[in-house]
Formats: sequence, structure tokens, C-alpha cells
Amino acid sequence: MRTIDVIIVGASLAAAAAAKRLADAGLETIVLERQALPRHKICSGILSPRGHRFLLENFGPLPREVLHDPVSCKGVTFHFPSMVSMPMDFFGGTTPHLHRKFSDHWAIKQSGAEVHDQTSFVGLEDHGDHVIVQARKQGEPIEYRARYVIGADGPSSPVIRALYPDYPKTIPWFFVGQKFHEIIECPLDEQYFHFWFHPGLGHYTWSHARDGRQIVGVGFKTGDNFAKKHAVVQQYLHDKHGVKLQPAGDDHEGCAENFGPSLINRYVFGKGNVLVTGQAAGFLNMIGEGMSCALHSGAISGEAIVEARLRNRPVQEMYRKMIASEVRRTSDQWNPLKIAFDKPHEADFPAALGALGWRDRARVMKDIWNFVVLYKEFKWGRQIFRAAMQRPLIGGYSMRKWL
Ligand SMILES: Cc1cc2nc3c(=O)[nH]c(=O)nc-3n(C[C@H](O)[C@H](O)[C@H](O)COP(=O)(O)OP(=O)(O)OC[C@H]3O[C@@H](n4cnc5c(N)ncnc54)[C@H](O)[C@@H]3O)c2cc1C
Repeated sequence: MRTIDVIIVGASLAAAAAAKRLADAGLETIVLERQALPRHKICSGILSPRGHRFLLENFGPLPREVLHDPVSCKGVTFHFPSMVSMPMDFFGGTTPHLHRKFSDHWAIKQSGAEVHDQTSFVGLEDHGDHVIVQARKQGEPIEYRARYVIGADGPSSPVIRALYPDYPKTIPWFFVGQKFHEIIECPLDEQYFHFWFHPGLGHYTWSHARDGRQIVGVGFKTGDNFAKKHAVVQQYLHDKHGVKLQPAGDDHEGCAENFGPSLINRYVFGKGNVLVTGQAAGFLNMIGEGMSCALHSGAISGEAIVEARLRNRPVQEMYRKMIASEVRRTSDQWNPLKIAFDKPHEADFPAALGALGWRDRARVMKDIWNFVVLYKEFKWGRQIFRAAMQRPLIGGYSMRKWL
């Protein structure tokens, strides 16, 4: 059995950031990835400016092959049922449009950690002074002995399931699906990610250009029919925005999302010698942007291990102290008071709203209210809106709810 300092589960962006901190500190680190690398990852790939800075500062300039076409994105455009469209530019200019299959592989290679792909995490036993990790490499059982483990294994996190088997039953799950269309005519600006605040379309509806095709995506809940939801959105884009698309190709895709823990400040950070980070921990910004907080939380999980060793302190104590800044930053993005009076986002919502005439501004506010508070299908909408309103505008977040 191989003995190492740290095992990281998942070879994505949170993992790359954690691995970089650990490898830089001289800790022997192995990253386990269940898929063969480079692996596909369903994602729009729109990186926030803060995520972009993280990649540049930690891994260097991005090679062309880690980008889709268009290679960059100016910002996000919100569309409302009242037919007001509100483009918001990212602070500091355009950001890269990542091709996750290649960007994640590039970042993990740059981290300097050893990577074992086609190796699935199966379970763990925390013995206090070490953790035994059980995995399967191409079907064959394999065990590792590590001082610490980091679960950077995404929304369905097998590491969380190993620590808290009942946790997945306690949070709301959503599904997202997207289809790819050849374009006949598309007036939507390809330099923006487009998002619809429209109860008639669903709780999460988006579209953007990628490699010469148009993606049309919808969020849906268990029991909903993805094809029907998608058809409604495609028809709406045609009728209201003049978007003419060919029927979708066969390569549609979807996945389950743990959308919401950051909204209600209910993160999972692990226990004992096992840390959880990235989207597995619940980090996901508003409108589903998760790469920047995956990178930053991942780096903090790696730093927490380095600090715990240096100071001879329990790693959970270090991690929970150090992660508080990222919690505040991510949860603030959902806070209506922060959105109205501050700038928690990386695109300028107040400026875009201010640029509208007062009639359109009133329409937008009414549409947002209808979407967040009155939308019946968004069952826990009212509950989470109340929870968000109760958060402190400035200062700390309660850690009592964190696992
Ligand atoms: C449709 C869609 C569009 C999105 N668009 C954007 C966007 O435009 N911008 C943005 O910032 N975010 C976007 N996101 C969110 C973003 O993709 C995630 O928040 C981000 O990838 C989370 O990173 P992570 O490192 O925490 O985990 P993930 O990227 O989910 O990676 C987890 C890794 O763990 C591996 N793994 C899982 N189980 C095991 C196991 N048992 N053993 C070993 N390895 C395992 C997986 O294969 C994967 O490689 C989008 C998400 C979806 C679904």
C-alpha cells in the first residue's frame, strides 16, 4: 500500500488549486480521478475575472487549446419576461471561455502533483493519525494510506457520501440539461452568456455560442421531461428573440446539481482528517458560476493542511477559520441587500440597472420579484429568500449550520 501525505479525490479545478498549494509546500500528493484524462466536464466554461486571475497567478498564461471559440466572454446578459434585456460587462474586461476538458487537465498538470486517472474513490477509514482510502483502478481494488484526504469530487461527492451517508437526502437537487444546435440565425450577442429570469421557462435557462453552435440549456426537477422543457425554450427563443436553430444534435447532456447550499449558508467541510472543497462543499455562485470559488476554496483546503502541519493544530480547525472569507464572498452573491447596495458580483448589476430608463428598471425589479419570490415551481424560493434576507449585511456568517 502506498503511503503519502495527501490524497485528493477528483482532478478538476478545486483539486488543481489544492494540489498546487500542497506540492509547493513539498507534500507528497496524489490526485485520484475516476475518468481517463483529459476528461469531459459539462460546463459553459465562462470564467469569472477572479477565476481568471487565479489561473494566471498560479498556473501561468492559458494555452489556446484550453479555450473554446469564441475564446472570451464580455459578461452576462439577463433577459426578462417584460422583454427588457440587460447586458452586464465583467469588471476588468473579457475573461477566457474555458474548454473544461483541456483547461482542467492543463491546471492539474501544472500543479506538480502525481495524478492517477481511471481510479475511482470508493471509501475511506479515518484512523486519527492516518486515513485509508479505498479505490478501484480500472476495476481492480487499490488502497492508499494518507495523512489527509481532500474531497474535490464535485456536486455528487462520493467523499461526502462516505462521511455523511444521509447528507444527499437532506438537500434539494436540481438537474440541468443542454442541447447543441447548428445556427441558422442568432441575434444573441455571442460575446455574452445569456440567462432568462422567466418563470414560464424554468428556474434556470441559458444559451450561449460555442464552437460554431448554439447551446440551449434548461434546469429541471425530478419528474420533469427535459426534452419538453428544452422545446419550450427553443420555441421561446425563436418567437421572442428571432433565434433560428437547426434541430439539436444527438450529443445532448445533463447532470444533477447541488444548487443551493451557498445560498442558505449550509456548507460541508468534512471531519477529522478529511476536508471537502469546491462544489462538493457547496460553493456555487449565483447563476451557477462555480469555477472561481472551486479554485479559491480548493487552494484554501491545501493551505489549511500546510498550516495544520506547521502549527501542529487539527486540520478542521485551520480549514474552518481560513475558509470563512470564501464563504462570505460566495454567500454574499445571493444576498439581495448586497446585490442592491454593494457589488458582490463580478459584473456590474447596479450599473446595468442604472443604465435603463425608470420604466424598464421597474419592470426588471418586478420580474425579479416574481421569479424569486412568487415562482411556484421554485418550491423553496420563498424560504431561501427569507433566509438570505436574514443574513448579516456585513461581517461573519454563522458556522453552526456547516457540516
Ligand atoms: C451545465 C453547467 C454549466 C456550468 N457553467 C459554468 C460556467 O459557465 N462558469 C462557471 O464558473 N461554472 C459553471 N458551472 C459550474 C462548474 O462547472 C462547477 O462549479 C465546477 O466545475 C466545480 O469544480 P470542482 O473542482 O469543485 O468539481 P468538478 O468540476 O465537478 O470536478 C469533480 C471531479 O471529481 C471527479 N470524481 C467524481 N467522483 C469521483 C470518484 N469517485 N473518484 C475519483 N474522482 C471522482 C469527477 O470526474 C470530476 O473530474 C456549470 C455547471 C454546469 C452543470
